[in-house]
Amino acid sequence: MGAGTGDGIEGIDELLRDRLLIMVNDRSAIDVLPYVPPRTGGLVLTGAAAPVRCREIRNALAETVVVMDYGSHTQRIATPDAAFGLGSGQGWRNLDVTGLDEILDGQRDNKASYAVTPTCFIPADEAGGASVLSAVIGQANQLRREDTVVLLPCSWRWLRRSSVPLLAQQIRACRHPVALIMQAYGDPLERAQAAEGLRQLCRSCPRLVLWRTDLAAFDAMAHGALGAAVGVSAVLRHGVAPQPGNGGGGHKPHPVVLIRRLLRYHRVATLQDWFAHVDPWTCDCAVCKGAPLTRFTDRNADVVAALQHSVCELYALHEELDATLAGDERIGWWRQQLADAWEYHRLLATQTGTEVPFPKVLQAWRHQSPVALTTSEEQQDQERSGPS
Ligand SMILES: [Zn+2]
Repeated sequence: MGAGTGDGIEGIDELLRDRLLIMVNDRSAIDVLPYVPPRTGGLVLTGAAAPVRCREIRNALAETVVVMDYGSHTQRIATPDAAFGLGSGQGWRNLDVTGLDEILDGQRDNKASYAVTPTCFIPADEAGGASVLSAVIGQANQLRREDTVVLLPCSWRWLRRSSVPLLAQQIRACRHPVALIMQAYGDPLERAQAAEGLRQLCRSCPRLVLWRTDLAAFDAMAHGALGAAVGVSAVLRHGVAPQPGNGGGGHKPHPVVLIRRLLRYHRVATLQDWFAHVDPWTCDCAVCKGAPLTRFTDRNADVVAALQHSVCELYALHEELDATLAGDERIGWWRQQLADAWEYHRLLATQTGTEVPFPKVLQAWRHQSPVALTTSEEQQDQERSGPS
């Protein structure tokens, strides 16, 4: 571990290590809670009632990890002078270091297992994001606390080859663990260089957590990320561009399910098309108990069941990851999952007589892993960014 690591910080790292959190709106938290294993899982709550829900859950289940993301990054773009802030019924409030400390204390008062900074959105390097990023880290480093994760909600452009060394350098300069959100319209990892950039970042930053993501959680953890938080709904599976009045992620009217064999979420309507003329795939999770994956309708009970199924399947996959040793063994396990997913895509196409394209992101993950950033790459970048 790096210099200056205090006792309490080691504690928070152990709380994050290899843990897979489920990111969920406060309204759906109770639905998924029974399927979250306390030892290896937990919840990130979004939405207006997150503090109340957090306190309720932690009062009832003290050993379950529950934290909050206020979603400030979905509402405001950060500036060096206003990097943190909070929207409420009374309007928007910018937070200086003292104000930030109060908000983080408030999360802990509501029994959050650790505090998460309400960071505003960090634009791309070329859009002035470098000074914003260094302000976020600089102000967070003034916090005298060992119970906090610094949220970095970044444009996907930070993952490009030209920007990733500076991002890695800043993450490593942070006194606290960092939770990265990748923002894009659609899947951030479908953008050029993004999948490779994220792997480099995970290999170069030992205290990085991937936040508000999807199956990228597994690619990141295989490549050295400390932990991850996967969203239950599409809107909570990547960062969104800030807009005033953005919520914490609402309900989707149509059911979407994780197909574990395909390492992919699909709309149930798509599954129904595929399996229109052949026996549908079934699922053996605790929710489905052998029932077909095509059965979910858009009735509320089915939407909830689809969500519970996806959580079960995420933790089944996570249990396998958790059983591997970090490093080569874990990467080998992940590569095998990807190879199997490729075979299952072919099998599905054969069984159903339809075209089932292998997703671009899975294709990118089958590529060889990049090496960690070298110190000279980061030094070059330090010279570029100048003294700060
Ligand atoms: Zn299932």
